[in-house]
Order: sequence, then structure tokens, then C-alpha cells
Amino acid sequence: MLAGSGWRVTTADVEHSLARTFQQAAGEDGDALAAAYARQFVWDLDLRRDLQRGDRVEVLWRPDPTEVIVVAAARLRSGRLGRTLEAWRWQRPGDSFPSYWDADGVEVPYRLVDGPLDDYEQVTALLKDRPTHKGMDFKTPVGTPVRSPKAATVTRVDWNWRYNGHCIELRYDDGVIAKLLHLSENRVQAGQRVAAGQVIALSGNTGRSTAPHLHYELHRGDRVLDPLEYHEVQRRRLSADELARFRADQARLAATLDRALASL
Ligand SMILES: [Zn+2]
Repeated sequence: MLAGSGWRVTTADVEHSLARTFQQAAGEDGDALAAAYARQFVWDLDLRRDLQRGDRVEVLWRPDPTEVIVVAAARLRSGRLGRTLEAWRWQRPGDSFPSYWDADGVEVPYRLVDGPLDDYEQVTALLKDRPTHKGMDFKTPVGTPVRSPKAATVTRVDWNWRYNGHCIELRYDDGVIAKLLHLSENRVQAGQRVAAGQVIALSGNTGRSTAPHLHYELHRGDRVLDPLEYHEVQRRRLSADELARFRADQARLAATLDRALASL
């Protein structure tokens, strides 16, 4: 149903799966809404395994021409965790993009410490999402500086162009192989040494890529590594000043959501 200023609210008790739940609750928007909603909670739950009958989803959202769906607020009452997870969309001063924060001002998505991008719009795929995709995807505009996460040697560039587009393979000094794909501009050559944090490329949308993003993939020998396990990860926390501003905006969103829920 409509909740004012273009926002819609969808709520449902979980039935079978998140996809089925949202297909029944939101019709033709269900699949896109399920995907956008799931991105907020993959950090804390395995959504294929951990959802239970009686769990409840609530989401304030609107269709968007570029992002397909924008989620303003999402809640998941989880029987498995015994609590309600929350994600509120808010742009921290100094950030280039909005992110999602819980009610205490802790960022919902994890970030890689010393990852390849300083800032990006959203993580759109994790290693665990699907077995055929071997990396982590960061949605970010074409031209975002890409850093070498570690001291490394460039082992090859621009192989398998049709799929990878402009691409760089690095061998970190601990032997791990890193692949960075779909770049718009490559600034290094095979054999070159690069320092940790050095800008080696600009992100892009080349090769088999349907939207601007960076694909980051790690291997040790035959094994694919999860960047979330290989790297240190962090959840940022808002400062006291930021938290006060966030809470004012979050209270408005919460009022919109709760008013809409009460009128259902
Ligand atoms: Zn990818």
C-alpha cells in the first residue's frame, strides 16, 4: 500500500522462503523487493536456512528508475536470533552514498578493512550468494579509484577480455591471488610491484557486466577465498553528532512506516 511521498509499505509473515513471501505480498515487484530486502540481512543471517515460520518482514520502499527499488527501512523479526533486525537508509556526512544503519547507529553492511575501494554504493553480491559467482561485487560509478589492497606483484592484465573487460590479477606477498574485473582504466603492467593502497585502476563496466561495478575475487591455490574472511571487516559506528542527526531522520521514517502499518 502507499505510505505518502511515493513510499510503499509491504509486510508479511514469512512463508516458505523470502522470495515466495514477497511474491505473495508485493506481486510483480516481489522478486526485486525480495532481493533488495535480503541485501540488508545477509550480513547477520543465512536467509535460505535461518528464516522460520512466524518471522515477520516489514519494508518501506519505492520503485526507482535507476536502482529498481529503493529500500528506506527494513525490519526482520527473527525467531532464530530472538530479536528484530533493522536497517535504516541514511547518508552519513562525508560519504558519497547512503548506507544502512541500525537504530544504534551501527552500519548494517560490513566493510573490508583495506579493501579495493574507499567508498562505493552497495555490495550487490557476496561469495556465498551463488556457487557460480566466485567473488564479491561492489556497485560503484565508472571511474572510482581502485587500490591494491596489499603489497603485491601484478601477474597479468586484460586476459579473457570478453568476460573480464579490463582486468588486473595480483599476487599478494602471502601468495593469495586477487582478480579485479570490469575496469574502465588499467594503470599497471604485468610484472610491476605495487604498494598496499596504491591506486592501480579505475572501476568500470567492461566485459560481461550489466551495470557499473567492481568484481573482487581471491584464490589460494585451488581454493576460492571469501573476501569477508580473508580481510579484516568492520561495521562503522556513527559519532555522537552524526547519531543525533541520524535519529531525527530515522524517527521520521519510523513514523511513516508505523503509520502505514497501523492503517493496514
Ligand atoms: Zn562479480
